[in-house]
Amino acid sequence: MTNVLKVMDKLSDYYNSSRKTTLNRMREDPDPFKILIGCLVSINIKDIVCEEILDELFSRVNCFQDVIDIDILELENILYKARYRKVKAKILKSVSEEILNKFNSKVPDNESDLLSIKGIGPKTCNVVLNFAYGKDKIPVDSNTIRIVNRIGWINSDKYYEVERFLVDNLRGEKLRDANAIFMLHGRNTCVSVSPFCSNCPVKDECKRVGVERSR
Ligand code: SF4
Repeated sequence: MTNVLKVMDKLSDYYNSSRKTTLNRMREDPDPFKILIGCLVSINIKDIVCEEILDELFSRVNCFQDVIDIDILELENILYKARYRKVKAKILKSVSEEILNKFNSKVPDNESDLLSIKGIGPKTCNVVLNFAYGKDKIPVDSNTIRIVNRIGWINSDKYYEVERFLVDNLRGEKLRDANAIFMLHGRNTCVSVSPFCSNCPVKDECKRVGVERSR
């Protein structure tokens, strides 16, 4: 496991930080309300679409009360490019109501309170704890699980085991950057089918576990 930092440094250099996702850029001036709402909107949509939607959404809503007050059809219209826009509109409203009523409009800064809110799962929870509150947490997604297994760091598809491994091996800013780096690497190089190993910046460090076909 000794090459974790070396690999992450190489990937970080390769994927210019200016290409960070919309949510990651929010870390620069963290607003827990915007990070939570942004994360719920971003699920299963492209970053460029997410950015457009959030620009529009945050020009209309600035707090949880605003999300509760906005007409559901207007909210669905703002989310019109998002997959499952009706479901997402309902979740934004229900999460906002729960935070307003149970937590006095303050986004919780701990795992148990966040996960007690219907509509918030482990990935969203860790995005909030990491991006909004700077805690040593990492949102784990399918890109992350695929990459850490292929490199040979871990042999597990379990969310919490992958999270634990990364938290144990990365600290501070390196941990906070890791989600964006894995996302970029998973979408551009270490894709799920036939990864681009010949152009990969960490091909010398990677064991390519389970990779049967590559380019
Ligand atoms: S060498 Fe191939 S399998 Fe390994 S990280 Fe790079 S793209 Fe993924």
